Amino acid sequence: MVDVRGVHKSFGRLEVLRGVDLQAAAGSVTVVLGPSGSGKSTLLRAINHLEKLDRGTVSVDGELIGYRRSGGRLYELKEREVLRQRTRIGFVFQGFNLFPHLTVLENLTEAPVSALGRSRAEARATALDLLARVGLADKAGEYPRRLSGGQQQRVAIARALALEPKVLLFDEPTSALDPELVGEVLDVIRDLAAAGTTMIVVTHEIGFAREVADTVVFMDGGVVVEQGPPEAVLDHPQHERTRAFLSKVL
Ligand code: ATP
Ligand code: MG
Repeated sequence: MVDVRGVHKSFGRLEVLRGVDLQAAAGSVTVVLGPSGSGKSTLLRAINHLEKLDRGTVSVDGELIGYRRSGGRLYELKEREVLRQRTRIGFVFQGFNLFPHLTVLENLTEAPVSALGRSRAEARATALDLLARVGLADKAGEYPRRLSGGQQQRVAIARALALEPKVLLFDEPTSALDPELVGEVLDVIRDLAAAGTTMIVVTHEIGFAREVADTVVFMDGGVVVEQGPPEAVLDHPQHERTRAFLSKVL
């Protein structure tokens, strides 16, 4: 489970996260909604310690991320330790960020071999299973540039899964895609949800949120304004700011 407590983050004088609390249970899907600039991406980056926290803590399965506690104080972990933690927190971005000079299969095997110490044979077998799972078994030998955006994004998801993450974070995974390719990526995420993968998904796809989320979190101005089951937040929002946002996107 992911436990975000009292997280604050400023960039210079701009306070982007102003005390965010968020708990995502194991096996649950949390969809984060909110206007541009509300801090959604910063929150995801804070969860895997791509951003240092000014205050607060993030832990995943009980392990503090980015820091260790000693004598009641927090000390930042060494980069090597943070990288180790980050391998188990999958992150899928808007852009697909595949390694262009590696084949699809190599994109999936590189980190398990280098970061987890898997044998090539084992990494390859896992990678082929994952490619089948995202419907791309026949693309193992292709280079990313020869794939559509939707296919590249599915490879990016498979690559994250190859590291056996405790949680998968998605930052607007479909917003760079042509509309006709959005569905195939959402289908993959939907399958992962059905298989009990813990996920936190920032998206503007309200229909997807309604169907797949266990919890919808609405952020505005660096705080969680409202959260709950999709029917509550989307159909009976309690806060004016949530209502105003939904009236624009629905
Ligand atoms: P969007 O929906 O547009 O992706 P968001 O909710 O993801 O928005 P963030 O990217 O988290 O918003 O940004 C929140 C605020 O923090 C914005 O005002 C942004 O300009 C600012 N910000 C984010 N990263 C940095 C940075 N590295 N340095 C300075 N300001 C930053
Ligand atoms: Mg963002």
